[in-house]
Amino acid sequence: MSDAGSTQGQTSYVIIGGGLAAAKAVEGIREADADSPVTVVTAEPHLPYERPPLSKGLMLDKEGPDVVFTHDKDWYDEQHVDLRIGDAATAIDPQAHTVTLTDGATIRWDKLLLATGSSVRTLQIDGADLQDVFYLRTLEDSEAIKARLVAGSDVVIVGAGWIGLEIAAAAREHGCEVTVVEPQPTPLHAVVGPEVGGWFADLHRSHGVEFRFGDGVERFTGTDEGAVDGVVTSSGATIAADTVVVGVGIRPNTGLAEAAGLTVDNGVVTDAQLRTSNPDIWAAGDVANWYSTTLDTRLRVEHWANANDSGAAAGKAMAGADVTFDPIPFFFSDQYDIGLEYSGYVPRGVTPEVVLRGDPKTNEFMAFWLDGERILAGMHVNMWDTIPAIEQLIREGKPVDRTKLADLAVDLSEAAS
Ligand SMILES: Cc1cc2nc3c(=O)[nH]c(=O)nc-3n(C[C@H](O)[C@H](O)[C@H](O)COP(=O)(O)OP(=O)(O)OC[C@H]3O[C@@H](n4cnc5c(N)ncnc54)[C@H](O)[C@@H]3O)c2cc1C
Repeated sequence: MSDAGSTQGQTSYVIIGGGLAAAKAVEGIREADADSPVTVVTAEPHLPYERPPLSKGLMLDKEGPDVVFTHDKDWYDEQHVDLRIGDAATAIDPQAHTVTLTDGATIRWDKLLLATGSSVRTLQIDGADLQDVFYLRTLEDSEAIKARLVAGSDVVIVGAGWIGLEIAAAAREHGCEVTVVEPQPTPLHAVVGPEVGGWFADLHRSHGVEFRFGDGVERFTGTDEGAVDGVVTSSGATIAADTVVVGVGIRPNTGLAEAAGLTVDNGVVTDAQLRTSNPDIWAAGDVANWYSTTLDTRLRVEHWANANDSGAAAGKAMAGADVTFDPIPFFFSDQYDIGLEYSGYVPRGVTPEVVLRGDPKTNEFMAFWLDGERILAGMHVNMWDTIPAIEQLIREGKPVDRTKLADLAVDLSEAAS
């Protein structure tokens, strides 16, 4: 058994995960503890990396694979981090304070971080295992999909969520014929609602994407060689497909936590310090279901900023800093020449009123989601540097004047009283 090399007075840290949360946790630990041993265990055959470019710059061939790595190998060496790359953790023993790896090694820890992220939800339908039916989560997935984005070929995307829309944009930019199948009446229906969802549909239609809303996918058909050649929808239509990409959501990787007896409920449950039900184990990133002090609710957020900030916060907390993790949830997306950022949280069951600021047809506008007089969330499209003002309105929770909020001539700070 390895004890991660700790000596008297030192703390052995083990981080399980190879995404952004894991990389930022190393930074967080090192801010407060320069010397103790840190081990990062990651199942993927790469240094810890960030996923947003996989559906954007990388898929568009505008960036090379190196952009995804949060730090290079030299940085981990300088931080004295023991990297166990391509080796998954198979079990945690909270009593013995050990983690077992696929290669049979057992590592002892004093403090452990679960940054195991998410895995794609898969379709269990006929034809799901045909060649050229893809999901997107890893560098390899991104490279494999990009290789299929040949001009003139038929690409069918299942699901009009963030991933589906970004791949649709990339596929159009490569000159593919793109159809998106989505059971809801608009893209991102549950996130932004029908009005703003309609704007996303128009944006993509203006770039040549075809949508089939209110329709599901029944099965995939294939050639004698086993390659996909069509998508049969619930309404009985058949869509020609050279490539299918399925983007129907993700689920948190909670298996290790459950087996170790930690409290798991839509992710690994933590407090506002990102500490799990075991006082020596923390969770961060997509897998963590944390308590938001400002919003007085539990949140599990599947976005870059959450992994970035919670990873760093958990690392600091593990190293003994007094940390409260309390951001307003935030995400961004890039599609065609559109850049957008969204901040806030609309609780399930609330049907918010939408107030628009600016004209969506210009592709430069803001949208706000209100519960009564209070702003729950705000988004800008190509109106940069507005997120701090949006977050201030959300945090203050003061009643807003809808007319002022909608008026581009009125400063956002004057919309609330
Ligand atoms: C294609 C794509 C585009 C995205 N674009 C955006 C965007 O534009 N904006 C935005 O806000 N967010 C975006 N996201 C979301 C963002 O990337 C995620 O929220 C973020 O990756 C979460 O980071 P994480 O470290 O928590 O988990 P992950 O990135 O999922 O990393 C978890 C890592 O842990 C490893 N692991 C799991 N179990 C084990 C184990 N037992 N042992 C060892 N290792 C294990 C996994 O293999 C993986 O490497 C995108 C995601 C994808 C997939």
